[in-house]
Amino acid sequence: MLADRVKKIKPSPTLAMDARAKAMKAQGLDIVNFGVGEPDFDTPEHVKEAAIKAIRDGFTKYTPVGGIDELKEAIIEKFKIDNNLEYTKEEILVSCGAKHSLYNIAQALYAPGDEVIIPSPYWVSYPDQVLLNDAVPVFLSTYEEDNFMLRPEVLESKITKKTKAIILNSPSNPTGLTYDRKTLQAIAEIALKHNIYIISDEIYEKLVYDDIEFVSIASLDKEVKNKTIVVNGLSKSHAMTGWRIGYAAGPKDIIKAMTNIQSQSTSNPTSIAQKAAVAALTGPQDFISIMHAEFDRRRKFLVDGLNSIEGVRCLKPTGAFYAFPNISKLYGKKAGERRVDSSLDMAMYLLEDARVALVHGEAFGNDAYIRISYATSMENIDKGLERIKEAMSRLK
Ligand code: PLP
Repeated sequence: MLADRVKKIKPSPTLAMDARAKAMKAQGLDIVNFGVGEPDFDTPEHVKEAAIKAIRDGFTKYTPVGGIDELKEAIIEKFKIDNNLEYTKEEILVSCGAKHSLYNIAQALYAPGDEVIIPSPYWVSYPDQVLLNDAVPVFLSTYEEDNFMLRPEVLESKITKKTKAIILNSPSNPTGLTYDRKTLQAIAEIALKHNIYIISDEIYEKLVYDDIEFVSIASLDKEVKNKTIVVNGLSKSHAMTGWRIGYAAGPKDIIKAMTNIQSQSTSNPTSIAQKAAVAALTGPQDFISIMHAEFDRRRKFLVDGLNSIEGVRCLKPTGAFYAFPNISKLYGKKAGERRVDSSLDMAMYLLEDARVALVHGEAFGNDAYIRISYATSMENIDKGLERIKEAMSRLK
């Protein structure tokens, strides 16, 4: 009955784990939820007010498919100020979240049989969006000892005549690592040499820590910009996950194709959310530094706590709000009758035995790790860490 493409994909494992934790909580169980992929902060007040005003003003009808001019102008200004990138309105498309922007790119670019390079560990939706468009995900392993940055020479070895694009995500979900300028330059050179597109998912741009510099690969030079589609959005920067506003910036012909696709699927993103997004991008930005400082504090606490657990090794993340500890030293051990041999075993053990929800690394392409989101209170992090420590110490 169903089309073949449906058989190739699975529901988002991160959303599934979050739903499971929430369901257990609803049953009255005291769950510490480290599975979440959204800031635990409220959307800033002035952003909510802008949406309420939009409703009161009757701004509740269809808008142009690709977004209202006012929002495109705010996005253009953001690129100029934050990334030193110049775009015109024809080079911008606003969609219903960055996930939707990425989906539009997939539909516009990938032909059946095209290969799309995805550095692994990866965000869960990249491979499935490639598969849904009858293209082929080609995984490129990255390693802890390289701070999970891909090795350019390995990238080159994965490129074939069929390679259409590479998807980059910096800062990364799930590793929390941020690409440096030198590596981005090396990747860009290879992409230009082989004429492949770079899709750069920069949704965690505002959450970069220590003295790490955020670099948009498109800003390296004009030639690179012409081969890059940048994806960004308001979900993480302004705690607006439910508003569904994301955007893409790139070459006019690709943006036009994506806009046509969107015109035949969702039409415009919600009119009210677009007005809220204008307020978010053009209004006071102090919210971001408050959220950033709190995430930074939690990051240090969580990573120190994880590294104090026997058998756990965790790099200090430089971006986003995830820690990605290596727990493989604990595989093969047992607590009573329960044996842990994989990241899923560990996630299930911690959920059922310690009442801590997190996501198994296998969902992101590497079974040696688990992903812990610190988009939750310090109190929860403290409690969750204690529970993890206790449960892991029982593994013998
Ligand atoms: N890209 C990455 C790497 C993400 O982690 C997420 C959300 O978890 C998204 C894109 C999607 O964000 P949005 O809410 O804008 O669709």
